[in-house]
Amino acid sequence: MKYHRDRERRNRFAEKGNQLKLVIDSDLCQGHNRCYALAPELVDVDDYGQAFALNDGEVPAELEDKAALIVDNCPEFAIKVESGE
Ligand code: SF4
Repeated sequence: MKYHRDRERRNRFAEKGNQLKLVIDSDLCQGHNRCYALAPELVDVDDYGQAFALNDGEVPAELEDKAALIVDNCPEFAIKVESGE
């Protein structure tokens, strides 16, 4: 599985009809809530501040840049975007 950091590669990937999936490692998450602040369309937090992916982690094409943003801004490296490529 690969995460395409640069937009051009992600666009080519999406054109092939591939679905990106957001995965949050609950063991790494420390509840900073940065991800929720940046992309409430993709993640939510529970009563303890632990983040979890919405919509089974599916990332709509129009939110792929936001998914990349929260991957880059998680200080615990707890967020990944995976594909079935
Ligand atoms: S930014 Fe990272 S560590 Fe913070 S709540 Fe989100 S997933 Fe957890």
